[in-house]
Amino acid sequence: MTTTVHGYPRIGPNRELKRASEAYWAGRIPASELDAVAARLRRGVWETLRDAGVAEIPSNTFSYYDHMLDTAVLFDLVPERFRTPAFAGEDRESELRRYFAMARGADDIAPLEMTKWFDTNYHYLVPELSPDQRPRLAASTKPFSEFTQAKGLGMMTRPVLVGPLTFLMLAKPAADAPQGWRPLDLLDDLLGRYAELLELLAAAGAGQVQLDEPILATDDGRAELVALERAYGRLGELTNRPEILVSTYFGSIGTEALEVLKRTPVERIGLDLVAGPESVDEIAAVSGLGDTTLVAGVVDGRNVWRADLAKALSTLGSLLGLARDIVVSTSCSLLHVPIDLDAETELDPVIRERLAFARQKLDEVVLLGRALSAGDEGITAELERARATAPDGAAFVNSRVRARLDALGDDVARNGHEQRGAARTDDPPLQTTTIGSFPQTADVRKARADHRAGRIDDAEYTRRMRAEIDRVIALQEDIGLDVLVHGEPERNDMVQYFAERLDGFVTTQKGWVQSYGSRCVRPPILYGDVSRPEPMTVEWITYAQSRTSKPVKGMLTGPVTMLAWSFVRDDQPLGDTARQVALALRDEVFDLERAGIRHIQVDEAALRELLPLRAERHADYLAWAIGSFRLATSGVADTTRIHTHMCYSEFGRIVGAIEQLDADVTSVEAARSHMELVDDLAVAGYKRGIGPGVYDIHSPRVPTVDEIEAALRDALRAVDPERLWVNPDCGLKTRGYAEVEPALRNMVEAARRVRADL
Ligand code: GLN
Ligand code: ZN
Repeated sequence: MTTTVHGYPRIGPNRELKRASEAYWAGRIPASELDAVAARLRRGVWETLRDAGVAEIPSNTFSYYDHMLDTAVLFDLVPERFRTPAFAGEDRESELRRYFAMARGADDIAPLEMTKWFDTNYHYLVPELSPDQRPRLAASTKPFSEFTQAKGLGMMTRPVLVGPLTFLMLAKPAADAPQGWRPLDLLDDLLGRYAELLELLAAAGAGQVQLDEPILATDDGRAELVALERAYGRLGELTNRPEILVSTYFGSIGTEALEVLKRTPVERIGLDLVAGPESVDEIAAVSGLGDTTLVAGVVDGRNVWRADLAKALSTLGSLLGLARDIVVSTSCSLLHVPIDLDAETELDPVIRERLAFARQKLDEVVLLGRALSAGDEGITAELERARATAPDGAAFVNSRVRARLDALGDDVARNGHEQRGAARTDDPPLQTTTIGSFPQTADVRKARADHRAGRIDDAEYTRRMRAEIDRVIALQEDIGLDVLVHGEPERNDMVQYFAERLDGFVTTQKGWVQSYGSRCVRPPILYGDVSRPEPMTVEWITYAQSRTSKPVKGMLTGPVTMLAWSFVRDDQPLGDTARQVALALRDEVFDLERAGIRHIQVDEAALRELLPLRAERHADYLAWAIGSFRLATSGVADTTRIHTHMCYSEFGRIVGAIEQLDADVTSVEAARSHMELVDDLAVAGYKRGIGPGVYDIHSPRVPTVDEIEAALRDALRAVDPERLWVNPDCGLKTRGYAEVEPALRNMVEAARRVRADL
């Protein structure tokens, strides 16, 4: 019996990696200094794991930006545009310049596309592959040098690599790849390079490697059994190699993949028993793993709750005898949770005692390992203490919220767009609007920071925010937009702002989690029943409305997005929690309406993100996701328009769900895939209002009137003018006014031109 974890946060306890990489990008420090920070961070992680008593320590879990990008670079699968003389040097500066250019773009060279890592809020860079690419092992290999660094510190680690199936299946064909060609067609070639790497690592003394194959938790991955067998059959056959752990997570992999892996010569299989509790039955169904060792992910790597040790122990107990041996582990890499609960000094102790961040999860893994090993005397007392202080589930019940939800019943979700439809046939054509936020200037940020730190009082803060709202309203009037927004200057973040105002949530001081590259987020923690002590947005929105005769759109964050970007209690179904959030939002919607606000937008930016990895679970998810949105928004007056916004462009896959949300207007992130969206809409016979983002706010480029006009004319092929809304494809808060103002002027002008021809 031994212990391990799949990976550990890389950003450093004080976001050292963020600071160092941003300083490096800005030219303030040389590559050598960035490398030195990175080496210290890696060392810190290994020592933390070692000192906590974790027996088997992973390496190569560090990344300067992203592990998928690292893998592409490792195998020299670098697109042509990064092979120009500007990136040709062999020295470290050139190497890093190219690496970060692939991540972030350079001058006029576009970076790799970025997308979400499975159903997490971590983003990876999508490798671009084509049939003429020949993978080869790069001259300096990161897994090798990290292993050597740790070895130099006296630690024999287990290098972690993205597995070949996951790497290829998450890659996309380059633009010039022939129709029908799939990155997975590179498998054989790539396996040869994995083989070389494994041999190299063995020669350096590595006893074990970990190949991560989370793709096996998806439907697509589960369908590639032949490739799976080929990959691990071939790597397994190598004679001079470390032991292989094929690690899976984010769900179970099914009995078929399990059978295949069991047949191959790999020594270890890692399964996620938290996100895929059915794995236990699947192991039994294949009559155990035989000669293979099970790395049992029993401590949740995705959430912040203390483990239920008794439950984990009984799960582990039920697995004894079903594998050659059992290694206690986390369900997945700890990348997805904050680093150390000890850094939180202001948390309510009652909530704090329920939490475990990455550092605390190591203790849980170690404790479980000891409990399972025979002959550990002190363990009973420790487990007893853990049990005695285990959280009491009843502590955070709000019976009023529960009673209200029960009383509402199912009928409440009626009276959406369908019923109100008759009232809106006279909507004007091609109304222009924005998604909500305006640029967050240095002054705005400073006002919020000063207020938080007590350097300015409430009255002064209100004065500054109102001044900002005045400015944003005046600008929108001047530009000629039809439906205005207040600009969201008071919001640090669209989820945290509401979490700070709802009961049942807490926020952390230092609970940072990597979202992508140097960008970290601090997800709130939803720990108990949710309720709204008082209105959250009404004051700002009504102030904005008082400054203009044009309608101002109220701006809320929807229940699914609130859950997706928080750590959420796991003691009841997500759908139940979503209903509580929805009820609080519903109260806000009615308060806004009563205050005279006629357009109310409830953002569901993350609707797609929480979609389960397996199709068989989609219906359940969509039922509660849609139900909670409708609970929040239904029942408003005929004259009120409900809007929603999604940061999602593959509209086709969820168009049915969007229809059922029953919002009057949905704006989506379509600027980069406009044609597809319009086709999807036409096919689906979509009948509600739609605002396909007419330009990409993720780029500083100002779109021309002509191109926006063309996009609008194109959209009119599928949408009636009264239902077509004109807006950018997301909020503007990350942009500067220098781009935003001309872009919006061009957008309004394009709409004017198209309207003139109707
Ligand atoms: N209303 C939010 C904004 O404009 C929406 C952001 C988002 O979709 N991510 O910033
Ligand atoms: Zn968006």
